[in-house]
Amino acid sequence: MTQIYLDHNATTPIRAEVLEEMLPFLRGKFGNPSSIHWAGRAVSSAVETAREKVAALINASPSEIVFTSCGSEADNLAIKGTASALRDKGQHIITTAVEHPAVLESCRSLEAQGWRVSYLPVDTEGQLDLAQLESLVGDDTVLISVMWANNETGNLFPIAKIGEIARKHGVMFHTDMIQAVGRVQLDVKAVNLDLAAISGHKFGAPKGVGALYIRSETQLEPLIHGGHQERNRRGGTSNVAGIVGLGKACEFAASEFEQATDRVRSLRDQLEDGLFATIDNIQLNGCVDRAKRLPNTLNLSFAGISGESLLLNLDLKGIAASSGSACGSGTLEASPVITAMGVDLAMAQASVRFSLGRENTPDEVEYVLSILPAIVERLRSISTL
Ligand SMILES: *Cc1c(COP(=O)(O)O)cnc(C)c1O
Repeated sequence: MTQIYLDHNATTPIRAEVLEEMLPFLRGKFGNPSSIHWAGRAVSSAVETAREKVAALINASPSEIVFTSCGSEADNLAIKGTASALRDKGQHIITTAVEHPAVLESCRSLEAQGWRVSYLPVDTEGQLDLAQLESLVGDDTVLISVMWANNETGNLFPIAKIGEIARKHGVMFHTDMIQAVGRVQLDVKAVNLDLAAISGHKFGAPKGVGALYIRSETQLEPLIHGGHQERNRRGGTSNVAGIVGLGKACEFAASEFEQATDRVRSLRDQLEDGLFATIDNIQLNGCVDRAKRLPNTLNLSFAGISGESLLLNLDLKGIAASSGSACGSGTLEASPVITAMGVDLAMAQASVRFSLGRENTPDEVEYVLSILPAIVERLRSISTL
């Protein structure tokens, strides 16, 4: 059966070269990287090489990289770790209404402990008002957390400008850059970042490994207390194979950057242009200006049908995409990211996200374009919405 995977913002396949690099550490090279003997040394040098590769991708120093068990842990460590370290300085955080749950729920857990959190709204294209952001900064503000790229719409936020605002007011700045890795040029120093979260499985490394960039002067309390691993910033024996895979994937993200992003952008544009040319009454969710979106992401609402039913019909044809909406307990829930943009409930429920990746081909996009209009037409003809 045809299998076309257009859900790379959910997860990506492990690259063959990444897996090859990892395998020795799942076989003979079993040592604990904290051990001083030969078995440990063979492994600790691989972990440190991986740390250098992650650091090089984002223009950090290796000592500023802490490995975590996933991107969610990195976001939690950034937000809760800063909050614990700076609670005497102030208890206010600024974030956005459209963050990933790893950030939003970390903020909500702090709210339950008495912190004040401002959730910056977005406009109809999903963009932020930076004057409004700056007006929210008060004497008690200790952290601004704004994602580099949105996982649902692909929207890119003006991280450099937000970094200037944070620096000007002496506030720490964290970004969830998980969707940006491999798709956007990243330089944490140039944009004044103090903290930045990465997840391996979103760019060709395995699930269950992530990293947090922690600028050298940054104060942070660990979340996971234990041994002295990761310079006392994250206890627990390292996931050596996963870390080695993450390092290898970062090497590719750096070396193949331009070629890979040009290629995926042309496929996304082919899909976007093709769908707008053949289907009426569809609406783009996100920035109309494609340069302000990730090169691989397209989020559309198909008026008159539910995104869920479209996804099921695409799946029957072997096409994997996704929607922010999920059917829980019989009611169709709309994506909070799409509704935050002021999209009405029916159109939010009609949204579908296509997120492309390195293994997709023009023929695959053609196949999608050849079947999608008929599916939409049929669903609209039987729709009760
Ligand atoms: C996937 C994702 C996460 C979570 O990363 P995990 O490694 O799956 O925990 C956080 N933020 C964004 C923007 C993501 O896309």
